[in-house]
Amino acid sequence: MTDATHRRLLIAGSGIAGLSAAIYAARSNNDPLVLEGTEPGGQLTLTTDVANYPGFPEGIGGPELVQNMREQAERFGADVEHGVVEDLTRPETDGPFRVELTNGDVYTADAVIVASGASARTLGVPGEDLLMGYGVSTCATCDGAFFRGEDMLVVGGGDAAMEEANFLTKFADTVYVVHRREEFRAEDYWVDRTMEQVEAGNIELLRNTELLEIHGSKEAGVEHVTLASHPEGHPTDRLDDPATEEFDFDVGAVFLAIGHTPNTDFLAGTGVDLDADGYLRTEGGRGGGQTATGVPGLYGAGDVVDRHYQQAATAGGMGVMAALDADDYLDDLDRVEQAEPATAESDD
Ligand SMILES: Cc1cc2nc3c(=O)[nH]c(=O)nc-3n(C[C@H](O)[C@H](O)[C@H](O)COP(=O)(O)OP(=O)(O)OC[C@H]3O[C@@H](n4cnc5c(N)ncnc54)[C@H](O)[C@@H]3O)c2cc1C
Repeated sequence: MTDATHRRLLIAGSGIAGLSAAIYAARSNNDPLVLEGTEPGGQLTLTTDVANYPGFPEGIGGPELVQNMREQAERFGADVEHGVVEDLTRPETDGPFRVELTNGDVYTADAVIVASGASARTLGVPGEDLLMGYGVSTCATCDGAFFRGEDMLVVGGGDAAMEEANFLTKFADTVYVVHRREEFRAEDYWVDRTMEQVEAGNIELLRNTELLEIHGSKEAGVEHVTLASHPEGHPTDRLDDPATEEFDFDVGAVFLAIGHTPNTDFLAGTGVDLDADGYLRTEGGRGGGQTATGVPGLYGAGDVVDRHYQQAATAGGMGVMAALDADDYLDDLDRVEQAEPATAESDD
């Protein structure tokens, strides 16, 4: 077995939540180690312009913002290293956590902050990777305003797709919602709001339709898309069917709203509570924050916990709360450890 390196506090994830936690944890002398995961800097590195993070009136590039945070954390003594957590366990109740990485390295830690984010699901269609951040986005709240006056396409049929489509009507000429079935999965509330916008001419529904390809370039952005439709739905399963129609469609932006997958697989061995979709469940910390899990010493922050707001500023705020909650826990642990020798002597 590889010798384990012990850390007082380990933070899984180097997005906004993890780095914000690291700044506070380092300033509280908790000697944090941040493990970057497979996406150093997290989701914000996928966007070229963050216009809504407080403190930057002209906006700031996503990679620049996370790099600044990393430097700030390191200035106060945080370590940031490559490493992907494969398995997190706690072999003895109240003992340290055991953190196994995919490269075989092992750490132990007195406390752990899980800031591993949630990955937006993508379709894997041609053009999607190339144009991500250049007209293709997984966040309408973040990027919608950049495409003011353009026709926009939203992919999806659930609550998120309806909410994003409604939001985008503020900016778009017309919002087209592409959904592979006839019926939408969204709650009645969102379907009703969407139908109001359809009646007002702001949203058009392309049912039984799927996105096959996104065309454009980094310089020009999205120029058009190729869609397929079939009267019975799921056209990509029926591409050879003569009833399937393929056609090109002009839009200036594509928003994927087909859900997120929280990165929590590595937590199975902790027995921590996850919700039905795999999001980490947290409860009030001392100050009423929402970062303490049911496992003492294990905290959660950012998009891995928060399925609703999923914004950089909210993820950062939760990272701060998690670091402060973990600091309370570690202080208590110190007090217990300092008290233990005295108790042992008095027992003799
Ligand atoms: C294209 C795009 C544009 C956006 N634009 C904006 C915007 O303009 N404004 C805004 O407020 N929000 C924006 N968002 C949303 C914002 O990026 C997220 O809300 C925020 O990044 C969440 O931060 P996080 O730290 O919780 O998670 P993430 O940023 O997802 O970071 C998760 C981190 O965990 C790591 N990780 C995952 N699994 C493991 C593991 N097993 N071991 C170790 N590490 C692991 C990853 O490598 C990553 O570093 C945008 C999102 C996208 C996708």
